[in-house]
Amino acid sequence: MPIHSAIVHIALHTPSHSGVGDLLSYASPQPLPPGTLVRVPLGKREVLGVVWDAVDATGELPEGAAMRPIAGVLEGVAPLGQPWRRLVAFAARYYQRALGEVALAALPPQLRDLQPEQLARRLKRPGKAQDATENAIQKIALTTEQERARAQISSESGPFLLFGSTGSGKTEVYLRCVQEALEADPTAQALVMVPEINLTPQLEERFTTRFAPRFGSQAVVSLHSGMTNPQRLKSWLAAHSGAARIVLGTRMAVFASLPGLKIIVVDEEHDPSYKQQEGARYSARDLAIWRGREQGAKVLLGSATPSLETWHASRPPTPEDPEGGRYVRLAMPSRIGAGVGTDRGAGAPARVRRVDMNQQPRRAIFSAPLLAAITERVARGEQSMVLLNRRGYAPVLHCADCGWKSDCPHCSAHQVFHKADRTLRCHHCGYTVRVPRACPTCGSPDIHSMGRGTEQLEEQLSALLSEVLRPDRTPARIARIDADTTKAKGALEAQLAQVHAGEVDVLVGTQMIAKGHDFRRITLVAAVQPDGALFSSDFRAPERLFALLMQAAGRAGRDAAYMAAQAVHGSQCEMWVQSYHPKHPVYEALRTHDYPAFAAQQLQEREEAAMPPFAYQALVRADARSQEVAQGFLTAATAAAHAADLPGLEAITLFPPVPLTIQRVANVERAQMLMESPSRAALQRFLAAWQPVLQTTRSAPEHKGLVRWLVDVDPLVI
Ligand code: ADP
Ligand code: ZN
Ligand code: ZN
Repeated sequence: MPIHSAIVHIALHTPSHSGVGDLLSYASPQPLPPGTLVRVPLGKREVLGVVWDAVDATGELPEGAAMRPIAGVLEGVAPLGQPWRRLVAFAARYYQRALGEVALAALPPQLRDLQPEQLARRLKRPGKAQDATENAIQKIALTTEQERARAQISSESGPFLLFGSTGSGKTEVYLRCVQEALEADPTAQALVMVPEINLTPQLEERFTTRFAPRFGSQAVVSLHSGMTNPQRLKSWLAAHSGAARIVLGTRMAVFASLPGLKIIVVDEEHDPSYKQQEGARYSARDLAIWRGREQGAKVLLGSATPSLETWHASRPPTPEDPEGGRYVRLAMPSRIGAGVGTDRGAGAPARVRRVDMNQQPRRAIFSAPLLAAITERVARGEQSMVLLNRRGYAPVLHCADCGWKSDCPHCSAHQVFHKADRTLRCHHCGYTVRVPRACPTCGSPDIHSMGRGTEQLEEQLSALLSEVLRPDRTPARIARIDADTTKAKGALEAQLAQVHAGEVDVLVGTQMIAKGHDFRRITLVAAVQPDGALFSSDFRAPERLFALLMQAAGRAGRDAAYMAAQAVHGSQCEMWVQSYHPKHPVYEALRTHDYPAFAAQQLQEREEAAMPPFAYQALVRADARSQEVAQGFLTAATAAAHAADLPGLEAITLFPPVPLTIQRVANVERAQMLMESPSRAALQRFLAAWQPVLQTTRSAPEHKGLVRWLVDVDPLVI
């Protein structure tokens, strides 16, 4: 029998909610430092684990202890540092998930899957020669606003909110602050996050161009789910070893091992995609703030339309509120290239045009003035972008005789009509059928589509513009970009390239096209039907709509030099909104590009209603075979919480269970209950105490039909 000199407690991914404690103990022939990556037997498999803490060498194991030995250590990979382990432990605790699950999900998949020999080979692969030089980086002269922001970031500790419109030069400030951090310390590292994978190539190019000459071509790496597993492993190892100085990535990058981390940038911090929507439902932005404080790194959030949480947290001190918020707000109101004192200069913000749809013919999709404006632009050789947040041809088919609707048999939702392939498709479960020739219920041939999606918009626009010619006398070209046109790998890139090359005159699409893409020649953006969000039951819907419209408006006239060359000064860039409520405060604030006014109005409503950021929320969701079982589970767990008088309960409001807006998806009924508290700590205390109660409740026989349950802390969608 081998003699083991140490017991190690290891974090590994066990099936969640299995009731297995967070750490499992194994025997090791030698003591292992915390953070060491090991392979261990688990059941019949062998899995990756992380040594969490080591127990003193104890000589031989206690008599009769059946502790399994570890299978081996991953040689060549340094142990994960304490800051990383603390981050993972915090995330697991805060978002109510098992430590091992969060830890293992934070590591690149190949680290889990490769055998030690394969990994060793991978580690031996020579990197390209380091081509770093002592080249000084060419410095662009910052504007006064940029310089003021830079100086404050340099001298204060933050966290900072860089509040600046699209094109105000935020990225240039990020670049400069990252440069300062890296030059101050040869081991310093930077983490720069963006919301979308599609935005990383642009950013990567900008960072590489700037920093490769100084720090070497290996200095900048990306980390996001669009990469192949070998690429991800390579980037991860480069970050972990310190070879990479800058990591660019999406939300998952917040968990990168960065021993030298000195600065974190979260661009477009308001973007909902920073919130993970499965597993541990973490907010990468919030974790970035936590990580920055723990690891002594500066945190820089940037946005033209900050989340109301961040806006509130960065409020300046006032006589009534002498403390102010925890963050430092830095404003950069001017667009680069905007002529001083003019509002019609090339860099000026888009002019907002509202069309009162009450004054337009009924069922008009494109109001006459909007159509005229698009037509003019095509004729001048400029591009337009038309937004509608609904893909497909029409959201539902309908029988005029019996009232039949194309409902999905598996979900409480309509099947969407897709004309191109004549299908009805459920966007929730994917269930697809061919479009019937006649009503399936009464046989009437009189079936029609109701409402419209991007596919229909594209078709109608093509018809409406069929006579319109471009400056070179060729017909106008319409294209569409949405989830349907970009399914194939590389399709999005190819379509974007066409737009950039000027091959498209009018681009139709979902919000996918409104985000961040640098469309330089677009001078008109139109939201044809944005009203839905104004009256949504989701209290964050107006905030999201405002951000989307501001961002879309920012797409117009990105390239000051191009605009000047085209001499479009006379026809300023425009953002069009068609609405039945054109005087709504959201559109009023949009018209004046006045985010602060919009935020003030929204925050006042939130404060009066005691909603975030004036309260903290969490959700428990239950999925089951029936609504009754789903809600029954939540009701029983609530009763058990009250019976046990769990800590924190006194400061928390527990709302009764309700069905989700789309309550059935793929034949699973979904219910949730909301918890709200003015105290984040009380909510955390309660959730921690409630977790085991939920587990026990689940195993009661009357909740057998429960499929799963989950907790969402700081949920974005309620
Ligand atoms: P944002 O990130 O706020 O959208 P960027 O940093 O991308 O803004 O700047 C917008 C444009 O202005 C870019 O083309 C950028 O190269 C340019 N730019 C930024 N700062 C300066 C500056 N100080 N001088 C000249 N051009 C600048
Ligand atoms: Zn019918
Ligand atoms: Zn469905």
